[in-house]
Amino acid sequence: MPPPPPSTLIRRACAIATCDDRRTRLRGASILVTGNRIVAIGDESTFTVPAGTRIIDASRCVALPGFVNTHHHMYQTLTRALPAVQSAKLFDWLVTLYEVWREITPEAVYTGALVGLGELLLTGCTTTTDHHYLFPAQTSGDLIDEEFRAAERLGIRFHPTRGSMSRGRSHGGLPPDDVVQTPDTILRDSARVIDQHHDATPFSMRRVALAPCSPFSVTSDLMRETARLARDRRVRLHTHLAETADEDAYCLEVYGKRPVALMEELGWIGDDVWFAHCVFLNEEEIRLFARTRTAVAHCPSSNMRLASGIAPVPALLREGAPVGLAVDGSASNDSSNMLAELRQALLLHRVLGGAAAITVDDVLWMATRGGAAALGRDEIGSLAPGKAADIALFNVDRIGFAGAVHDPIAALVLCGDSQIAETVLCNGQVVVEAGRLVFEEEARIVEQANTCARQLVERATARTGISFL
Ligand SMILES: [Zn+2]
Repeated sequence: MPPPPPSTLIRRACAIATCDDRRTRLRGASILVTGNRIVAIGDESTFTVPAGTRIIDASRCVALPGFVNTHHHMYQTLTRALPAVQSAKLFDWLVTLYEVWREITPEAVYTGALVGLGELLLTGCTTTTDHHYLFPAQTSGDLIDEEFRAAERLGIRFHPTRGSMSRGRSHGGLPPDDVVQTPDTILRDSARVIDQHHDATPFSMRRVALAPCSPFSVTSDLMRETARLARDRRVRLHTHLAETADEDAYCLEVYGKRPVALMEELGWIGDDVWFAHCVFLNEEEIRLFARTRTAVAHCPSSNMRLASGIAPVPALLREGAPVGLAVDGSASNDSSNMLAELRQALLLHRVLGGAAAITVDDVLWMATRGGAAALGRDEIGSLAPGKAADIALFNVDRIGFAGAVHDPIAALVLCGDSQIAETVLCNGQVVVEAGRLVFEEEARIVEQANTCARQLVERATARTGISFL
């Protein structure tokens, strides 16, 4: 265990969006952190500041709760902007990319996680999940452990999922047979990953969830068994759902029902479940999600990039369903920039629903409280005494925000300069300082990632004869 972080005083932030229940906003207020928690927020003259407290001058910064990213596939950072799939839609995109992803190694998973987690931290995100579902037969080693290693190195709060695929091409699935596993192997390893890595205590930095890849890559039996195991071990459940029109058609043809109805039949609806995408929901399904507190990870950039469609987010919010925001895998975004995702969500829903369809406050809420709800955490996502000291400071004293003095919080979403945070605290520890990662050299990550990315494609080309370029 690292030593407990010292006290930190974030002094006189130009604006603070607390994202508490009353959505309080403050001007010129300070935040006192002791250990890994916020102990006071407001007028500094009312605080008892311990000797030796580290002072961070926030007078040029907006302070926000660290964002919560609710869906990702970090290994995909190594296949960003790959020419062969720049204009493909989801199913074609997957079939091509599986040939490259088959080549991943533990080192590639570690490197991809450093890239994804690093970019998230730099853009104000302090808690993220990852959906890792690819376990090539020739790859030995614990790939989830590689991800935890990267998260621990960078200092981010991490909720990865032990994903799975059991239906290869020979059984009507999309992935090649040698990247899928048997249900026995999947369930045994899922239990092992929970036992080894899951920490259920409050303020935990490590949580695990279980996440079959999608209704078309595993069997119904495995969906049911996974839910049983997750509930037995009290961990959460996650999968992709209702992402594309193709998936809708597939579920209707194979199961005779829509994706949500299928999930309901399999025991996959409830307040311990969050689904990525949910583009194709009808009114009844939206009400079901709100009633059962089933959460959605909304991925606007990915849905636009793959032309999947527009999720009914304003309706979900109106009905009171929990909705978090997510960057999704880096091959379908192709970015892990969390602040950019807020802006994307705002603009997307206005195109469809009009200027009043969604507000800056709505997207800020989704990226903080909505995400915390999706991951089942109440100690993150807001700034208040007793909450986790997960805090992002963005310097708005820059040309990209100049003139936006009247509402610097909204400016973060509506303007958008470089979108790199000035300072980020996670669990009380400074993990981004002066716009740079504290615990890893950015240039080293870039070099390592580019080498891995080249090797993946070279090996895939040597095996298949396809250029991918
Ligand atoms: Zn995804």
